[in-house]
Amino acid sequence: MMIRAHAALSAKGRLETFEYDPGPIGPTQVDIRVTHCGICHTDAATVDNDMGFSQYPLVPGHEAVGIVAAVGAEVDRLTVGQRVGVGPMCGSCMRCEWCESGLEHLCPNVELTIFGGHHGAFATHVRVNNWRFAFPLPDEIKSEHAGPLMCAGATVFTPILQYGVRPIDRVAVVGVGGLGHLALQYLAKWGCDVTAVSSSRDKEEQARGLGAKHFVATRGTDELRKAARAFDFIFCTVSGDLPWDEYMAALRPQGKLCIIGIPEKPVTFGAFGLIGAEKSIVGGMTGSVSDTAEMLAFTARHGIKPIIETFPMAEADRALQHTRSGRARFRAVLVA
Ligand SMILES: [Zn+2]
Ligand SMILES: [Zn+2]
Repeated sequence: MMIRAHAALSAKGRLETFEYDPGPIGPTQVDIRVTHCGICHTDAATVDNDMGFSQYPLVPGHEAVGIVAAVGAEVDRLTVGQRVGVGPMCGSCMRCEWCESGLEHLCPNVELTIFGGHHGAFATHVRVNNWRFAFPLPDEIKSEHAGPLMCAGATVFTPILQYGVRPIDRVAVVGVGGLGHLALQYLAKWGCDVTAVSSSRDKEEQARGLGAKHFVATRGTDELRKAARAFDFIFCTVSGDLPWDEYMAALRPQGKLCIIGIPEKPVTFGAFGLIGAEKSIVGGMTGSVSDTAEMLAFTARHGIKPIIETFPMAEADRALQHTRSGRARFRAVLVA
């Protein structure tokens, strides 16, 4: 099988047509005919080699949706013709302490969909190394909406589980973007008292429509300072460098500051803010296999949807540029 893809041939390169043969299908592998693929900021960062370990040619795309086209001999529970989603991981060792505890995303040998020479889903097909990482999609979720759930959705949903956010908690979501607009919906449906935090009031109406009860605008105001001891959990979804001490002060005792966006500079803060009231700073990226399955079930049950802009797959380069420039409202999706 020849796979036709859109690949960067060098760091920061434009996406160009690229064909490759993935070879014979292995026993645990699944080939998926891609119908849709969401675009994540990590796709742009990987093309640009921001992390320093990209390999080229590089086919981005780790929010894949498609139809199972072929399965290996040992594949369980998936059949040809089934609709599935694939996120940032496409396999793991399945025998380390992390995999055995159901925490595959922490496996030291986790196999990533767009790293380590594995080609992603800006393509006619994508191959998953282990079938467990291809998730059957609930009927309630449309294919065009499923892509952004596979990375962005799992990234915001997992910390809610992982860090024990409770329905009685007061939570803040910093940034109303690709991650934040989903976090607002999940936390509101979870039952929390939700505040959206953004630099200006531009996105206030939209944030309230997504479930925010309160809104804090930070630029040129003292609204964040006034929110001292207001939140049990703060979700930082932005990549900007924030006034970290002010956010620490905005936490209630035993509150958690959860960083899921990647600030450009190191995160620094005074230790007293942590010590005095037993606060913590935590991180998270994507979830385990079971977290992702739970995320899909919760999304379907509550009718949660990403807000998307669609582009034809043939315009993958233009769509990636759109995401890279921060103009996507809120998530770009390629349609094959
Ligand atoms: Zn991603
Ligand atoms: Zn493992």
